[in-house]
Amino acid sequence: MTPLTIRMQPRDNVAIVANHGGLPAGTVLPDGLHLCDAVPQGHKVALVDIPSDGAVLRYGIAIGYALKDIPAGSWVHERLLQMPSARELDNLPIATVKPEPLPTLEGYTFEGYRNADGSVGTRNILAITTTVQCVSGVVEFAVERIKAELLPKFPNVDDVVGLEHTYGCGVAIDADGAEIPIRTLRNISLNPNFGGEVMVVSLGCEKLQPERLMPPGAIPINDQRGEALDVVCLQDDAHVGFMSMIDSIMKTAEHHLQRLNQRRRETVPASELVVGVQCGGSDAFSGVTANPAVGYCTDLLVRAGASVMFSEVTEVRDGIDQLTSRATTPEVAEAMIREMAWYDAYLARGRADRSANTTPGNKKGGLSNIVEKAMGSIVKSGSAPISGVLSPGEKLKQKGLIYAATPASDFICGTLQLAAGMNLHVFTTGRGTPYGLAECPVIKVATRTDLARRWHDLMDVNAGTIADGTKTIEEVGMELFQLMLDVASGRKKTWAEHWKLHNALVLFNPAPVT
Ligand code: CA
Repeated sequence: MTPLTIRMQPRDNVAIVANHGGLPAGTVLPDGLHLCDAVPQGHKVALVDIPSDGAVLRYGIAIGYALKDIPAGSWVHERLLQMPSARELDNLPIATVKPEPLPTLEGYTFEGYRNADGSVGTRNILAITTTVQCVSGVVEFAVERIKAELLPKFPNVDDVVGLEHTYGCGVAIDADGAEIPIRTLRNISLNPNFGGEVMVVSLGCEKLQPERLMPPGAIPINDQRGEALDVVCLQDDAHVGFMSMIDSIMKTAEHHLQRLNQRRRETVPASELVVGVQCGGSDAFSGVTANPAVGYCTDLLVRAGASVMFSEVTEVRDGIDQLTSRATTPEVAEAMIREMAWYDAYLARGRADRSANTTPGNKKGGLSNIVEKAMGSIVKSGSAPISGVLSPGEKLKQKGLIYAATPASDFICGTLQLAAGMNLHVFTTGRGTPYGLAECPVIKVATRTDLARRWHDLMDVNAGTIADGTKTIEEVGMELFQLMLDVASGRKKTWAEHWKLHNALVLFNPAPVT
């Protein structure tokens, strides 16, 4: 077994061990360095003597400071490191990087469902919006019946999904921050995969009334057709018995299924993709293999005129200066700073900070702290200029590379990206997660070959080949790009779709509950 280490930048004084199972003490690296400790896979080895208080450099930046002398060849784990404090949000470089425009990429298409509002879906799904958690058992019951009895009659419709959540009542609905869960739910209902066919199931007495969730004008296609919001209210006097409610939901669903069944895929340019990227269950390889490949693919998508969102505030907070310098305009940079400041204050209310992010699994996988994790996370955004910023739950209205501010929590991030209008999701993982969404296909990218081998029927792409030296970042990035077009077209299904693995929608509610 040839010892294999990966250094990200020439000025780094640590490298990570790539070999499966790690390397034992006494191993001699090809450059002659003797390991004085056993170093697990994905963990860092000191390439030179690092003095106490000296900076430990990875991705060319200080991910921490040595708490004591660290001799060359030592295992550099998180207990040896003092984490740097968060970058202040003033005096940041604003729109200073002016990269050469990337050459446009023409001729790439996929087969999608064109909607009346101009957006394009990658799946044809009936979504049933709920105003409140109280109705979710009833909606679940109805969805099962719709799938069994109605869906076979509408072969062009892929699925029926109840948009269930824990919001809607027992909440301070006028408090600061309450607009976030409400607009999230509204905008998810308008996701391009649902074809504008909005139907709502309401209880009746809940705080989040249907008219508040979907005010007049919220559904453009309804206005064009001169139709009112389609609501089934369980407390309606007309309902006598449970079956009356179910019949009512099924009758309403059938009406929308008929219209969805008319939808046909047509050839559309790759610029109609709205891709959300995120990572979860990260390890030290995330920032070496999968995220750089996603970053290369992000550049391809931006060159093709598509929209790509990257998110996860706490996982990019430590690289804020990189992001503000890549903003196309000062306004974009200021919007990023505003979102970061809002999140700093949100965390401070709970007397937490960004260091609350890293998990035991992240650390076991070799990520010492959030600074190191952030540097590996940001590379998903590729190299294009950042042309827009979304607040949590807002709907995306532009093309290019967008910073969509969301928590890093996998399910909350995915939920907010769905609200933004995501029609394809890319998810990188090193430790492994079976994550999936019912509303939109999720392509999962493994950071290590060992994970891709063990989870061969859960991972869609193996970026571990980059660490193995058998493929380049560009090759894996291009492979992912092609797979995205196939999945968007419905020619291929992701493993999560194959097994129907779906995580719950989780609305981000920074406001109090009552
Ligand atoms: Ca995440």
